[in-house]
Amino acid sequence: MSSQLVLLIEDEPEMRRFLRASLVEHGFRLFESETGRDGIHQAATRNPDVVLLDLGLPDVDGMEVTRAIRASMTVPILVISARGQERDKVDALDAGADDYLTKPFGIQELLARIRVALRRRAQAEHPEPVFALGSLVVDLHKRRVFVDEEEVHLTPIEYRLLASLVRRAGCVVTHQQLLEEAWGPAYTHQRQYLRVYMVQLRHKLEADPTRPRFLLTEPGVGYRLKTEPVGEP
Ligand code: CA
Repeated sequence: MSSQLVLLIEDEPEMRRFLRASLVEHGFRLFESETGRDGIHQAATRNPDVVLLDLGLPDVDGMEVTRAIRASMTVPILVISARGQERDKVDALDAGADDYLTKPFGIQELLARIRVALRRRAQAEHPEPVFALGSLVVDLHKRRVFVDEEEVHLTPIEYRLLASLVRRAGCVVTHQQLLEEAWGPAYTHQRQYLRVYMVQLRHKLEADPTRPRFLLTEPGVGYRLKTEPVGEP
C-alpha cells in the first residue's frame, strides 16, 4: 500500500470529491487546496510526492502556480485541464509541469499518469541508461538505437529528438521543448521542422509509420513516447 502524498489544487468541490474518493481508495494520502496561492504555500510546507493542478483556479493561473512550485521543488506536477484550455495547458507544461489530463478522465488513466510521473522523477534522479519497449531499444549512454535488435542510424537531430522523448518517457513533451532540445532556443517556433523530423523518425522506428505505436502525437501540445506495452494493431 502506497502512502504517497498527493496535493490536489482544485476549486471545484465535485472534482475534489471524485479525486478524494478515488485516490484514498488507492492508498494515497491527500491534501486539498482550493486556490493557487494556497496551493503554492501547501506545496512548500507539505512536501507532496505529486501535485495535481487544476488550471482554472479563481486567483492565479496554472502557469504561475507551476512556475512558483518548480522554482523550489522537483515534485511531479500533473495538470488537470478542461477542454478549451489548450494554450494554458501548453504554457503550464513549458513552465515545468510533467503531464496533463483533460477532463473528464477516468481513475485508471489518472493512476497510470501518476505512476509514469513518479517513475520519471525517480529516473531523473537515478538515470537508467537503456530504454527498452517491445522492439525498440535506446541506449542513451552509447547513443545507439535498435529496432528488432538491428541498429538504426539516426541523424544527430533525430537522435536528440528521440533522446528528449526517452528522457521523459510516458510524459508529453511540448513542441517548444522538443525544438529547443533538438535544434536550440532560436528555433522554438519552427513547428514544421518538428513535423518533418517526426515523420522521418517514425519511418525509421515504427513498423507502420502511419499508425505509430511508440511516437504518439498529442494534438496541439506535442509528442509522447509510449511506455506501457503496446499490443499488435
Ligand atoms: Ca476549476
